[in-house]
Amino acid sequence: MLYLSRKMYFSALHSYRIDEWSEEENKKVFGPCSNKNGHGHDYTLEVMVKGELERKSGIVVNITNIDRVVKSFIQKQLDGKFLNKENPYFVDNIPTTEKIVSYLWDSLDGKIDNCTLHKIRLYENDFLYSEKETTPMVRLTRKYHFCTAHRLHSEHLSNEENLALFGKCNNPYGHGHNYYLEVTVSGVPDPVTGMIANIAEIDKIVDEEISQRFDHKHLNLDTEEFKDLNPTSENVAVVIWDLLSPKLTNLFKIGLYETEKNYFEYYGSEVEESYGK
Ligand SMILES: [Zn+2]
Ligand SMILES: [Zn+2]
Repeated sequence: MLYLSRKMYFSALHSYRIDEWSEEENKKVFGPCSNKNGHGHDYTLEVMVKGELERKSGIVVNITNIDRVVKSFIQKQLDGKFLNKENPYFVDNIPTTEKIVSYLWDSLDGKIDNCTLHKIRLYENDFLYSEKETTPMVRLTRKYHFCTAHRLHSEHLSNEENLALFGKCNNPYGHGHNYYLEVTVSGVPDPVTGMIANIAEIDKIVDEEISQRFDHKHLNLDTEEFKDLNPTSENVAVVIWDLLSPKLTNLFKIGLYETEKNYFEYYGSEVEESYGK
C-alpha cells in the first residue's frame, strides 16, 4: 500500500452561533467567533489517499484525478463563501474546523477513482488544524509556543558519562530553545456546537499548566517537575502529558518541537502499553 498527499488552498468566512441562543450565550460559548457578520480564514487542506502501486505506470493514482475531484468540490462548495449562508450543509451545522473536516470526509470518501481516502487534514492557520481518518473520531490540534532553558544531565550517570552523552547540552549553565507544543484532542463533534472541545478552555488550561510553569524559566532550576528529572524533550513531553491529561479528558497526543529539527510525540502510557502487546 502506498500513501500520497495533495495540498490545496481555499478561503472562506464563517460564524459560530446558534440563532436560538441569546447574544450573551453565543458570546460565552463561541467567544469572538460568534460575530454574526462572520470572519475568515485562508485554509490549507491536505488530502491523503492510499492505494496499490500500478506496475505499468509506476503510480497509484494520477494526481490530476485528485485535483479534479477535490478542487472542483472546493470551488463549488467552499472557496470564497460565507459558509453559514452559502453552503446548505452549514446552514444547519456550525462550520467549525472539525465539522468542515467531517463534511469534507463524507463528501470526498469513495469519490476518487483507483484509491481510498486515508486522511484529511485542514489547517485554519499555523496554530490550529483538524484531521480525520476512517473512524468517526475527529482530532483537533492547537499549537503553542514557550521558550525555556535546560541542562541535559542525568543523576544516574557520572559527570564524564553525562559529558560524553550530552556534549555541549551538558553545559553547567544550560542552554535554551524555542519550544513549539502541539496539544491534540480527539472526539466526535458535538451535534449542537460542532466542536469536540472548546479551544478557549484548552488555551486557558495550557496557559495555567504549561506556559505559566515553564515559559521563560530554567527547567532544572526553576521548576519542581525537573528538579530531579533530566529535562530531555522526551521527559518534557511526558511531564506535559501528565499535567494536561487530568484536565483534558479527551487528550490524544502531545507533540513537542524542541527545535525545527527535533520533534517528539507522546500518546500517554496506556496507548504505549497497548502498542507493546
Ligand atoms: Zn474562525
Ligand atoms: Zn537543549
